[in-house]
Amino acid sequence: MSEADPQSRKPERPSKHFSDAELMRYARQIILPGWDIEAQSKLAQARVLVVGAGGLGCPIALSLCRAGVGALCLIDNDVVELSNLQRQSLFTEAHLGQSKAQVAVSELKKHNPYVVLSAVQDRVQNCTHEFLGGFDLIIDGSDNFATRDWLNSVAFDSKVPLLSAAAVGYDGQLALYDFSQSDQACYRCVFGEGGVDTRCSELGVLTTTTQVMGALAANAALIWLGQGVNNIENQLLLWSAKTLTSRKITYHRDPLCEVCGTPPEST
Ligand SMILES: [Zn+2]
Repeated sequence: MSEADPQSRKPERPSKHFSDAELMRYARQIILPGWDIEAQSKLAQARVLVVGAGGLGCPIALSLCRAGVGALCLIDNDVVELSNLQRQSLFTEAHLGQSKAQVAVSELKKHNPYVVLSAVQDRVQNCTHEFLGGFDLIIDGSDNFATRDWLNSVAFDSKVPLLSAAAVGYDGQLALYDFSQSDQACYRCVFGEGGVDTRCSELGVLTTTTQVMGALAANAALIWLGQGVNNIENQLLLWSAKTLTSRKITYHRDPLCEVCGTPPEST
């Protein structure tokens, strides 16, 4: 890869010095009990990758951008289509045919000039492990099992926490896999090898399913990055747009998992 290729470079950790304008911008967040300037500083130094600039990626990126994350990279190889506009909230008809990742970044810049934004118009599988390992959090908003499973393996190998969000039909799921702890499960532990694709293009999706799940994912990311807390540790959060209810299902690490399990001792 050339030096100009963003995938060949690790994102630099942003500075945590706040200008007066930034302090004013984030004032309502900084006065929160338990958030304060320290949490805002941690957020301002965090480098986050959002995989998929679609129904989930748009609201996730917008919330993190407004909240003051340090660096945000969006990756998506698709272009904006008419059928995206019902839920992919950073796009309009003027963007049809343009790169989702690049349009998203140009729109996000209008919301917060202090965030270091970058776009990769490619499949995430074409990124180097070094590039992916340079983030403090990877947020998976992709729409297929193969990408989710591949990303889980790379995130585990790189020890980068993986926030996995999904939204199809009236239902959403959220999990935060923290690979720094040996007792934590991974995506493969929970879903196995033979995950089934549940694509919105085939099954449909309510506009608000993606918006609510995007907001919940951004919420979990903020608490994790600013306060270091995982409120869904070893738990899968399920949300229903039909009943307006959520519940958490506890899962466990599979010691025989081919991704995170202990390899058998060689004889
Ligand atoms: Zn596992």
